[in-house]
Amino acid sequence: MSAQVQPLKASWSIEQATQAAFEPVPFKVYTQRDLDRIVQLGRLSPEQRFEMKVVSSVLPFRVNQYVIDELIDWSDIPADPIFQLTFPQRGMLAPEHFERIASLLRSGADKAELDQAIAEVRHELNPHPADQMEMNMPRDESGERLDGIQHKYRETVLFFPSQGQTCHSYCTFCFRWAQFVGDKELRISASEAKTLHDYLRRNTEVTDLLFTGGDPMVMKTRHLRDYLEPLLKPEFDHIQTIRIGSKALTFWPHRFLGTEDADDLICLLTQLVEAGKHVALMAHYNHWKELDTDAAQAAIQRIRSTGAVIRAQGPLLAHINDDPAVWAKMWKLQVKLGIVPYYMFAERDTGARAYFEVPLARAWEIYREAMQQVSGLARTARGPSMSASPGKVEIQGVAEVAGEKVFVLRFIQGRNPDWVQRPFFAKYDEEATWLHHLKPAFGEEKWFWEDEYEAIRCDKLSAAGLAA
Ligand SMILES: *Cc1c(COP(=O)(O)O)cnc(C)c1O
Ligand code: SF4
Repeated sequence: MSAQVQPLKASWSIEQATQAAFEPVPFKVYTQRDLDRIVQLGRLSPEQRFEMKVVSSVLPFRVNQYVIDELIDWSDIPADPIFQLTFPQRGMLAPEHFERIASLLRSGADKAELDQAIAEVRHELNPHPADQMEMNMPRDESGERLDGIQHKYRETVLFFPSQGQTCHSYCTFCFRWAQFVGDKELRISASEAKTLHDYLRRNTEVTDLLFTGGDPMVMKTRHLRDYLEPLLKPEFDHIQTIRIGSKALTFWPHRFLGTEDADDLICLLTQLVEAGKHVALMAHYNHWKELDTDAAQAAIQRIRSTGAVIRAQGPLLAHINDDPAVWAKMWKLQVKLGIVPYYMFAERDTGARAYFEVPLARAWEIYREAMQQVSGLARTARGPSMSASPGKVEIQGVAEVAGEKVFVLRFIQGRNPDWVQRPFFAKYDEEATWLHHLKPAFGEEKWFWEDEYEAIRCDKLSAAGLAA
């Protein structure tokens, strides 16, 4: 624990405990340029530090002092899960990509040549999985794309505020990694609250707004307020739920503690709740260690004191949490702290995917074994779920039907709401890690949703002026 944190006293009220104990803590961040300034990395060999430089030339790297001091157990690197979650590792690049960048760095290649090679490697890492750019972005009447808005499932709109397109630290497995490495064309964001409000006013079938990023909690509260406070007007009564996707409870719980901006945020959340909105902080968690500091727990208490709900979601990842005991302990601790477990995701097919992927068959075993260890209140987590282009597809289990071993699947969310909750079946495949590896079971040629999905896809791509 860092020096600023005084021990919590059992007799304190929540307000006292969360305010008095936490003086403002300055935010100190490190990026690739500063790798050599992270004292704790002195434990690694020069070769290991060079490997980090190579990998972080391609994939984004950003870590802050809180993560370094309070979340990582430096006596256990490189295995420590939070170290794996934030620090680049050699295996995160394919050997040929690693060698290409390493040899340019070793030979002191000029910047233009290096940048070119880096850009080429990035483009081979499927920077935009699940057709996000063209398939999910709505257009206005004149066919212009509404940047910063994604509307894939009828009732939920995603919004990417431009000031929220970074994070307090970066996750090594992030599926939005391409946004963080400066590829402007890959960045999804909107600079204007007006675009959002106009869109929501016109689309009254939408009940849920999901603020996302990056991490919207990197924004100053007054910017958040500009987007959210207008939603209290009667014309937005159809927006029942405001969700904010964030990993700030892990990477920077002081966002919610100790400063005027934090107090203002707590007021904003309270105000939204009291006006009748369901406010949900969709907290991204991968490991129980993220929940296990005084600052994290105080921040959780403080958010809950506003009446906002915290729901937890995150992907299943090799090297970080591919172990039922880790999930069971995490879900139990979440329930103890008043957090609702929501989703276990399968890692998406982008970036450092090969390093983190877990076969779907194994993912389901981990999910099931973890579920068996927890009480009903922690069994609200769904999954393992693939966020694929047609929808969120859950592995419900492995079964034998009419002598054939199959995966039982269902849509938790679908581009067509009619697909949701219909069981369907894929041939069992021990190695498959994503939907596109699976084949329909029982000799069927197509998935039940395939023709409709292709029709939707053609529509969207032709609206975008692209060949299907
Ligand atoms: C997951 C997701 C949502 C929200 O789905 P819920 O099942 O309601 O949590 C909305 N839009 C997109 C693009 C998503 O991936
Ligand atoms: S906090 Fe979320 S958006 Fe940010 S790097 Fe991690 S996974 Fe990506």
